[in-house]
Amino acid sequence: MRHLAGFCRRLLKGRPVVNLLELEIQDPVAWCERNITLDYGQFDRNNHPLMVEPMRAAAKIRGGTVGLLGSVQHIKTLTAQLLHLYKAQTSPCRAAHYDLTKEAIAEFSDDKFTPLIDNTTAITRLIPEQGYRRGKFYTGMPYGFIRLLSARILANRNSKTLKFISMDESWAYEEGEGWIEQVHDRQASYPWSWSMFLPSSGQTEGSELDVLWKKSTQKIWHIKCDCCGEEIPYVWSLPTKDGQIPRGGMRWGDDESIRNDDGTINKERLTDSIYYECQKCHGKMPWSAGRVAKRNIDGRYVQQNKDGDPKIDFYNYNAIAHFPWPDLVMLWKDASAERQRGSLTGIENFIRKRLAEPWDEKKYVSTDKVPEACGGYKRGDSWPDAKFLFCTVDVQQDHYYWRIRAWGMIDGKLQTRGIDWGKALSTGEIKDVCDKWNIPQGGLDREVGCRVFLDGNYNTAQVRRICAENGWMMLRGDEKKQFRHKDGLYRMYSPIQYVDAWEGTGAGNQLFVGQFWFSKLEAKNALALIRSIRDPEPAWTYEDDAGPVYEKQINAWARIVRQRKTDGSEFYDWINRSPHDDHLADCEFMQVVCASMAGLVGVTNQDNTDKSKY
Ligand SMILES: [Zn+2]
Repeated sequence: MRHLAGFCRRLLKGRPVVNLLELEIQDPVAWCERNITLDYGQFDRNNHPLMVEPMRAAAKIRGGTVGLLGSVQHIKTLTAQLLHLYKAQTSPCRAAHYDLTKEAIAEFSDDKFTPLIDNTTAITRLIPEQGYRRGKFYTGMPYGFIRLLSARILANRNSKTLKFISMDESWAYEEGEGWIEQVHDRQASYPWSWSMFLPSSGQTEGSELDVLWKKSTQKIWHIKCDCCGEEIPYVWSLPTKDGQIPRGGMRWGDDESIRNDDGTINKERLTDSIYYECQKCHGKMPWSAGRVAKRNIDGRYVQQNKDGDPKIDFYNYNAIAHFPWPDLVMLWKDASAERQRGSLTGIENFIRKRLAEPWDEKKYVSTDKVPEACGGYKRGDSWPDAKFLFCTVDVQQDHYYWRIRAWGMIDGKLQTRGIDWGKALSTGEIKDVCDKWNIPQGGLDREVGCRVFLDGNYNTAQVRRICAENGWMMLRGDEKKQFRHKDGLYRMYSPIQYVDAWEGTGAGNQLFVGQFWFSKLEAKNALALIRSIRDPEPAWTYEDDAGPVYEKQINAWARIVRQRKTDGSEFYDWINRSPHDDHLADCEFMQVVCASMAGLVGVTNQDNTDKSKY
């Protein structure tokens, strides 16, 4: 209440006191404290310090957009709901709240919005008795309504006029770039009085939401340092400057001091070691839920973009301001371990959903020429740490390129070495070299197993028969992004298919061969990522004497950044710099697919087209 009093006093300077009640009604935060009950009881602004400024801004703005980019499972969706209820009473209008899908918005209605309305007398008494005034996706008052809509449904994006719109998790609308603008077009009848509220996790760098963020006021949550009292934003770590990471950010004990003897993390020791290092005075700010809450009470949003458009007023906070720090560090460690295995999904989730920062894949995968990765060993040297040896074969009209590569995990980190490669004129040569390295060639025989894979996209029928005769399997590259498996997970390769080696030949005998499809794009991306890992030594290496032919072929494909014509946002693509001389690159892509099958690389890629909020 102290804050409210101060707020009113500032507003009331020189005005008659009789206006106090009127002003208090107009302040959405005071309105919530009078009318809203949450699970902990009557709404209390001291429980939601991160919410106060964005809510006031969104309630007040006319002809503009307020954004709230913050971590998940917090106040963003609640802020949108409270804004709708506040407006329903104080200035009812044609309003809508969007989520990505019909399912998501139905769940939102059942779990959140309907119970909240039922629990708010100030709103229920506004709704006339007629049954049609309230449904799962519609609440009608005299002079206004609130619709719940799905951004993915075209008719929901472009039908009748709306004055106030909120769009939940609008970072995920990127499959339909331009949707925010399309939905905003529904407000054209209110040229000066429309308003929009965009609560979201971290956006994709270069996306529609990111363009708005860049133009915006960029108000970032600041707290006062325990030591020097300066206002600082919480940062996970500062960006590298002159090759050095500046001091400041989240700090915790080194690996040795926080691990148990069996290598697992000792949460208690981790918790004791955690502190925040002030980026200004380098003082230590210890963690406890109470301290974090106390710092927030004195916190405020500070505008970072001096030239920001006041009609695009954006607020940003991250999980450090409200989520237990030890749990955050655990999440970060898991994500980093996943990255060491060649998958960026965990890091992406952490950046977007915890730090609420723009996600830019480029920062995590190098796009320039891959540095030499000679491993300090020779062709034909064996590697005792190898867990798997695979032989992959690229098939040409009258010859083959084969590659044998060893894969292993050392201290939980992926390591892979080239063993040997060659050009063969007969399948017998390949068989001999696989026998030499004891690589299983049992075809579909599960007891023996099979780690020899031929590219079956060229001369498929013949490759099938070669596989059948030698106990090998077939890989087929495809344009698809990922393949769904029975366990519901998406992988870069398909479930196994059994194909008849003599199909179409009229021969009476049947012999089945195992065939897998794989995503060419995913395999290329995964190889690029593995080749970029330095920890500090490269995870992916080849023989010192692999030679110029090998080096030229494996670098035939170059990863480049392209721009979308529609909105200028960037995406990755691949170009082949020597299309007739890339056979060993194909062999290395297939090696990554094999490592993925063995569970060493990017094992649990989620389908990123589905929005997962938590
Ligand atoms: Zn300080």
